[in-house]
Amino acid sequence: MPLAKAKPAEFHGVLLYSKAYRERDLLIKFLTREFGKKMFLVHGAKRPKFRLRAAILPFTYGTYFGDLKADGLSYLNNYKNIDHFQGITADITKNAYATYTMSLIDLAFQDSLPIPKWYDQLMIGLKLIDTGFDEEIITNIFEIQLLAAFGVAPNWVDCSICHRRDLPFDYSEAYGGLICQNHFDRDPYRLHLDQKTIYFLRLFSVVDLTKLKTIKVSDQTKKSLRKVIDQLYSNSVGVIPKSKRFIDQLGKFKI
Ligand SMILES: [Zn+2]
Repeated sequence: MPLAKAKPAEFHGVLLYSKAYRERDLLIKFLTREFGKKMFLVHGAKRPKFRLRAAILPFTYGTYFGDLKADGLSYLNNYKNIDHFQGITADITKNAYATYTMSLIDLAFQDSLPIPKWYDQLMIGLKLIDTGFDEEIITNIFEIQLLAAFGVAPNWVDCSICHRRDLPFDYSEAYGGLICQNHFDRDPYRLHLDQKTIYFLRLFSVVDLTKLKTIKVSDQTKKSLRKVIDQLYSNSVGVIPKSKRFIDQLGKFKI
């Protein structure tokens, strides 16, 4: 097979993460709108007066120019119109949730697969977190809506056994979704969720971030949502990003 040549291209990107590479270089991963996730080798990026420094800081997004490869490392050449999520950068909690949300998207999709819908969703989600929207709720919405990308598609619509929608629900891991009160006896290991938690899980599964105005969730319901989503991720998804640990630690400081 001939070596794939790098193609010069302009792209919209949001920085997912960067890591040290060799003495002076950085590896930088962008989610691009046009080409999916791409890893870039940035020569000399650790030098103090590096020309593109502002363009590759955490929580930066904008329009960039690079030499893009179908596989392997791409190269970043220049940028225009970059901006930073200042509110996220300045707040350790927002920072932790935004980082975790980005690592979930990184895990959910393979590199070089264009996912413009998720690029747009991520940009909206980060903007909401940046401007003061509850970062726990935004993160929960991503966690629920990303389940399908991880190959888990819970039925949040109706009872997985009889398809009724008018009775109280619970969640059954065995049935892979909601079950109604008439069928609670079918699964002794159902999660025994309260109706508020069920309400928000169903809402989060369909909510459109572009239309999100306000959502108020009590601390008690937030805890319950955290618990059930953790359960879904550890039992059904099976991958948990490292950045989740920091969120778990933040949770312990809350009373
Ligand atoms: Zn039923």
